[in-house]
Parts: sequence; C-alpha cells; structure tokens
Amino acid sequence: MRNFYTVCRHCHAKHPFEQPILTCPTCGGGWLDAGYDYPYDAKTAVSPQPSWLNKLTERGTTIWRYRELLPLRDDDHIISLGEGWTPLIRAHNLGLMLGHNNIYIKDERQGPTGSFKDRQASIAISAMKEAGIKEAVVASTGNVAIAYSAYGARAGIKMWVFVTSSVPADKMREVALYGSEVIKVAGTYDQCKKVAADFAANKGIFLDQGIKGIAAKEAMKTMSYEIAEQLGNIAAGADPSTPNGHRHPWQAPDWYLQAVSGGLGPVGVMKGFKEMHDMGLIDKLPKMACFQSAGCAPMATSFHKGLAIAENVDDPITDITTLATGVPGEAYVALRELLLQHGGTIDAIEDTDAFKAMQIAARMDGISVEPATAVTFAGLIKLIREGTIQPHETIVLNCSGHTFPVEKHIVGEQYARDMILEGIAEHDSHGRPEGLLTALEDIDDRVQRIAILEDNPDASRLIRRILQAQGEFLIDEANNGLDGLKMIKQDTPNLLILDLMMPGMDGFGIVKEMKKDPKLRDVPIIVITAKELSPFEQAELNGKIKALLQKGSFLDSELLSDIKQALPGS
Ligand SMILES: *Cc1c(COP(=O)(O)O)cnc(C)c1O
Ligand SMILES: [Zn+2]
Repeated sequence: MRNFYTVCRHCHAKHPFEQPILTCPTCGGGWLDAGYDYPYDAKTAVSPQPSWLNKLTERGTTIWRYRELLPLRDDDHIISLGEGWTPLIRAHNLGLMLGHNNIYIKDERQGPTGSFKDRQASIAISAMKEAGIKEAVVASTGNVAIAYSAYGARAGIKMWVFVTSSVPADKMREVALYGSEVIKVAGTYDQCKKVAADFAANKGIFLDQGIKGIAAKEAMKTMSYEIAEQLGNIAAGADPSTPNGHRHPWQAPDWYLQAVSGGLGPVGVMKGFKEMHDMGLIDKLPKMACFQSAGCAPMATSFHKGLAIAENVDDPITDITTLATGVPGEAYVALRELLLQHGGTIDAIEDTDAFKAMQIAARMDGISVEPATAVTFAGLIKLIREGTIQPHETIVLNCSGHTFPVEKHIVGEQYARDMILEGIAEHDSHGRPEGLLTALEDIDDRVQRIAILEDNPDASRLIRRILQAQGEFLIDEANNGLDGLKMIKQDTPNLLILDLMMPGMDGFGIVKEMKKDPKLRDVPIIVITAKELSPFEQAELNGKIKALLQKGSFLDSELLSDIKQALPGS
C-alpha cells in the first residue's frame, strides 16, 4: 500500500488521498495535483537500500516502472497493456531537410491503442478500479474514448463515451468494438462535455475528471521520465531503447513540442521535469512549444494577445477534430504560467500546413501520423524556419497518435446512438436545455436487471464484462450467498446468474429460498459451476433452473444466448 497526497493548485492545501475527488476539501478549488514523498535516495544513496535509480535499471519498460511516483495505492489494481517506454527516434531525414541534427520523435503511436492517451487510460482506469468504480462517463475528441474503452474492458468497467459526431467513423467503430456505449453528440466538443457531465450527474455515474483530476496529469508526466532516461542513453552513445536507470546521467531536452487540445500533455510533462529537477536528476527544464489548429486556437490567440484568461472559440472551424477544444478554461491559465516561467510558445497552425507536414513526415522519415500530430510537425518546421528553435538545441516532438481504422462490416452501421442538440432551445429551471434530460433518459434504456451471485472476483468480472458489452442490462453483484439473497429480495432481478459453491449460503440454498418467496419464485436462474454435479445434486436442481454452464469453458455467445432465452418476454 502506497501513500500520496493531493495538492490544491489554488490554496496549496495538502490532503491524504482517499478517493478520486473533484474539489479541494479546503477551498473548493477544482484543480488537484498529486504530491509524493520522493524516493529519497533518488540519486546517490547506496546503502542500506539500493538507490531508486539502481532499482529502475532492473525494472521493466512500462509507465509503471516509475511506480513510486504514480497515484495508485495498491499494485493489485494496475491495469496495464504494456503502455509507455515508446521509442525515441531521431528524425534523420527531416533533420537533414531542416538543417537540424537533434530532432527526436517520441513515438507515441506505438502505444497499445495507438496514441499517448494509453498512458492516461492505464492510470485513470487503474485508479477507478481501486476506487471500486464499475461504470464511468468520459467525453472525448476520439483517442481518449478508444484508450479508456480498451483499458475499461480489461478492468470490467463499463464506459459511456460521449463524442462529437465529427469524430471520424473509424475511431467511433473502434470504441464500439471494445463494447463501450457510444453517444454521438451533434454539437461542439465543449457542448459534448457538458452533456456528458449532465448525464453522469443524472445517473450518478462517475465522470472522468480529465486535466482537473490527478490521474491524467500523472500519466502524461511519465513521458518526461522516459525522455530524460532515453536522452541520457543517447548522450552517452548507448542504445536509447534499453532502460537507463543509474547507468547514464539523465538529460532534459531544450524543447518539448506537442499539439494541444485541452493542454493535458504539456502540463503533465512539465510536472515530471520539475520533479526530476527537484530530485537532482536533471539540471534544467525544457521550453515548451504547443500548437493548435488555427480554426480552433483559443490558447494560441489568447497567449499572443497577452490575456490571463482565454477567449473561447464557440465555432471551431477545423478538420482536425482531435484538437477541437474551444473552451480551455483553467488549463490555459496553468499552461500560460508554465510558458511565462520557463519559456516557450503556443502557436496556431493552418490545417493545410498540417496536411503538408503529414506527407513530409511520412515521406521523409517513414512516420505516418494522424492530422493532430501533423500539426506538431508543421509547428516544428515553422519554429526552426523562423529561428525560434536554434540549430544546437535538442528537440523532442510528441508523435502523439496514429489511426487504425476498424472495418465497417465488423461493427455494422448501428454502432452509435445519435443525439441532436440543435433545436433544443428552451431551458429548464437549472438552465439546461429542455428536452435534454429526456434525450439523456433515452440513452440509457436498460430495463432488464441481472443479478450475479459469484464469490470468485475473476469469474464475476468476466460475466459482468460479457453483459456490459451488450449494453442492455443493469447488473447487480454479490460475492456471497447471504448478501446475494438480501440483494435479490430488495431488487427483484429479471434473471439470476448463480454460482453453486459460495461461502455463507451455497447456490442450492439460494434456489431453495427463492422457491419459497413468491416474488422470486419465477425468476429464471442460470447456474454456472466449476464442478461436475453428482446425480443427487442434478436432481435437486432439476426443473428449477434454465441452464447449467461449466465455468472456464463457456463462450460469451453461449452465455448470451442462454440469457436471451431465459429472460422474460423472449
Ligand atoms: C489528445 C491528443 C492531443 C492533444 O493533447 P492534449 O495534451 O490533451 O491537449 C494531440 N494529439 C493526439 C493524437 C491526441 O490524441
Ligand atoms: Zn484549495
């Protein structure tokens, strides 16, 4: 069990971390960071404990190698797909073209779902698992939706994903493939975020906190640690892809470049460089160059006007949907503060320049990127050409994402539910558009309630996951017989999935009790068992259950077809 604390950006109050919370308990401020007691002997101490750097030398290459500085209490809750430690590749040809020798590409396309959002998903979903959350709502311009859906699937957490209808269909299909609920909102991303928040509040479902929470920023910070280790390797002439740890001095680049939407990446990355600086692991902090699409560049415009608070863009006009955040809010304030303090800029890039840069990166260095990432390549070219970045400076460019289309025929045409915001003009007493609530109700039309009584958490999660990916069911779970009986007496399920061997009261006992209760007598039961039943046991269940499935050997399709047949009304 590890301890860390939350630090409020506004009043700097520290509180021990207990649950994912949204606001500072002291001042109510809505932006929290994580603080740690640094692994103290980070750099030098050797005895009695080996230093943290020595330990890192031996550790595997996922983001979790920086475990002491990540906001999760218990290792058992880690959900990992091998994210992190992406290659740091020198852009030889692009460098030759621009007369610049030290351009490095942090290849985040090589994450499990093809973007740097995998880091965020790994930590955010692990933290949800640790908090016992089983359903969550997230709004996304695309890649967060994909990453959270993949990691959510592994954790048995159902994701309600709100995306704008301008997100490319290929991306939405991939989300659907993972079994998430996809809600397409016909409006801007900022409207979509509001709808998602309303839906979460209405349904009492956990809402992912994005940049204002802890998980996401801490996830992005892992990039900075990797960059410092990898640049250390490169400076020493060693292979950048092997873990460095104590072998070679770590190094910060002169520049970190990234295309921004919400601004999470640079804020998190800078936090990491600052931590390393505090621990004495690096001797400088990088400057940051952030880029937005000119058709939706509230941060770039406001920064160049010298504004302390961003002017919003209400009608983004860009084909680069990944970057279409028009309302940056507090993220702008935080990012601007970092830029003024440590140097750097936020610039606007025309879509046409981004598409040209996309071809250059692919043709020169064999790197095919999505349009949002192409904005960074265009920004790199611009800053080198205008002399903002000097030839001797080391640049790390976040090669943030690559798209993998999912074939249309795999998920069919009906993989998303449409939600039209236009024309919903009237407002109710909470200032919400009238009709929105009804629209939100329609999204969650689950009527069938299924109870799972199962003491083995893996089996329970597997069954839950199979049901969740269908989307149609409300699921109640209990892990022993007595609690289970209480649960189904309270909320009568339409169907019970029952394990036979359980502590407290076993499955046979439950069946007997149900037959005595008029409310439960007719509830169909599917038994899932790990053992062969004796003839006596079979006789006992005979006529009282709908189906018997052998644990560890049933397919999800079998379970689903048994469920569909057993449910009333089918
Ligand atoms: C999310 C995303 C961005 C923008 O990142 P933020 O740090 O959240 O502003 C850029 N490129 C890609 C591919 C992304 O998925
Ligand atoms: Zn506070």
